[in-house]
Amino acid sequence: MKITRIDAWPVTMKLTEPYTIAYETVSSTTNVFLRVETSAGVVGYGCAAPDLEVTGEIPAGVMDACGNVILPAFKGSDPLRAMMLMERIRPHLKDQPAALAMADMALFDILGKVAGLPLYNLLGGFRSRMRTSITIGILPVKETVARAIDHVQQGFLALKIKGGADVGADIERLIKIREAVGKKIELRFDANQGYSEADVLQFVEAVRPAGLELIEQPTPREQDRLLGRVTRQVPLPVMADESLMSLKDAYRLARKGLVDMINIKLMKVGGIDEALKINAVSRAADLDVMVGCMDESALGIAAGLHFALARPHVKYADLDGHLDLTGDPASGAVLLRNGILHPTGRPGLGFDPDH
Ligand code: MG
Repeated sequence: MKITRIDAWPVTMKLTEPYTIAYETVSSTTNVFLRVETSAGVVGYGCAAPDLEVTGEIPAGVMDACGNVILPAFKGSDPLRAMMLMERIRPHLKDQPAALAMADMALFDILGKVAGLPLYNLLGGFRSRMRTSITIGILPVKETVARAIDHVQQGFLALKIKGGADVGADIERLIKIREAVGKKIELRFDANQGYSEADVLQFVEAVRPAGLELIEQPTPREQDRLLGRVTRQVPLPVMADESLMSLKDAYRLARKGLVDMINIKLMKVGGIDEALKINAVSRAADLDVMVGCMDESALGIAAGLHFALARPHVKYADLDGHLDLTGDPASGAVLLRNGILHPTGRPGLGFDPDH
């Protein structure tokens, strides 16, 4: 079997509800889709969700990566030699993890389709479905609470609240949400690097009654020692998100004991294969894993879900980036029922977006 044709195209999708986090407001997103055709008639799909702030990429850069690196490296080669193909492009795409993830995803999709199995089965098949949190951006207290109630009524069992811009307001929002949704709903908090050490200590102490599950990336990504200091002091599990961009970061965070948990996003780390390696490091170091996402098509969400379903060490899923998108060519690549995400059951990533 050989790769006979490769196409990439950008798709801009509006968010039905623009949202605000500690450093920006987002109202639309552009993903790049990749289609890899083979001589056997099997077609693999991938997507990239470039994000200047997080992955350091823009859509045009992903398109260039496809034309200048992925196409010449892949065309005419056997797609089942995925590791060889990925090693071929990796040196040229060091600073383009979303482009790498897109290529990795398409190769895994082909592997699953050739095997006739959903990818999560092929990778280990530890579970068949998973609870996801849904995110609430930074909003005034009243609106935050209204949105939390709405999500719980829709069946969500876990909420992720964004903050980090104003510690006092964050505390008030968390306390009010807990009062409104009752004790059974999981509450996660993401400060997106917005807190100082004093802010974290004040926040964690004040939100004790809210019974949070975890606090994500409380402090700036480049300040390792601060992150470690905060983790040692607070009784709440601290998770690295922006501080974890690669396998090397996972090893460093683990070796220095800087956090309790890590957030693996395929777009940050360069795909499923890299995510599996990072998951192994975190298992060795006893760090819990959450699989997260960007504002990305349901195809990217499916890839994250297949990874998470395959491995027992992935404890949490935060796979909601597709829910607000309009015009997603892969909407339907995952199924959401009462806050639980399911794969489609079809081979590979389980979905063929129309070109
Ligand atoms: Mg985060």
